[in-house]
Amino acid sequence: MDCDDTVRRRLEAVRSTLPEGVELVAVSKFHPAGELRQAYDAGQRKFGESRVQELCAKIPLMPDDTQWHFIGHLQTNKVRQLLASRRVALIESVDSVRLLQAIDAESKRLGIISRVLLQVHVAREETKFGFSPEEFAEFFRAGAFRSLEATHICGIMGMASNTDDTARVAADFRQIADCRRLSLDLAPDLRGFDIVSMGMSGDYELAIAEGSTLVRIGTAIFGPREY
Ligand SMILES: *Cc1c(COP(=O)(O)O)cnc(C)c1O
Repeated sequence: MDCDDTVRRRLEAVRSTLPEGVELVAVSKFHPAGELRQAYDAGQRKFGESRVQELCAKIPLMPDDTQWHFIGHLQTNKVRQLLASRRVALIESVDSVRLLQAIDAESKRLGIISRVLLQVHVAREETKFGFSPEEFAEFFRAGAFRSLEATHICGIMGMASNTDDTARVAADFRQIADCRRLSLDLAPDLRGFDIVSMGMSGDYELAIAEGSTLVRIGTAIFGPREY
C-alpha cells in the first residue's frame, strides 16, 4: 500500500487557499513522474515544466488529459521539438517577438494553433527574460499580434522581484496586471487576452490580490527541487 500522501496533502492545502476563478499549474520541473502522478491522482491536470527535453520525456509517462504548460526560457532552436509533441496546452514564457514568430511559423507548418502568454519583465534586480513594459506596450500599439496566423496570445505572464519586501512584490504584480490593462486599451480588438499568470509558492497570495488568474506553484506542492 502506498502510504505517502505528502503531495496530495500539500496540493489540497494549496488548493484550499485559491479563490474561485484562479487556476493552478503544478510546477513539476526536476521532480520525477511518480510525484506528478500523485498530483494527477489527486485531481491535478495542469503541470508546468521549464525544459523541453524534460517535458517531452514526461509526456508519455502521464495520462493523455494532462495539460502541459511550458514555463521556462525557450530557445528558438527548441521550438520545433516542443511543438512536435503536439501536447503543449500553453507556452507561458514567450519573451521576444523573434520567439513568437518562430512559434507561429512552426505552428503553421504543423497545422496547429499554439496558445501562448507573453512574458513581461518587471523585477529589476535580476537578469530575467521577458518584454520590458515599454516593449510590451509597443508590441500592442503597433498591432503586431494581428499578423500571427497560427498563434493565439491568451494573456500575460510575469514574476515579481525575489525579495521579502512584500510592498515591492505587490507593486511588481500590480505593474504586470497594469501591462495587460494597457494592452487592452492600446488594442481594443484584442480578443481572449484573459490570462494573468503570476504568483509562485512564496508570493502567490499577493499575486492573487493583484489580479492573478493562474498561479504556478512548485515547491509548496512537490517540496524542494534537487537540481
Ligand atoms: C520554477 C518556477 C515556478 C515555481 O516556483 P516555486 O517557488 O517552486 O513555486 C514558477 N514559475 C516559473 C516561471 C518557474 O520557473
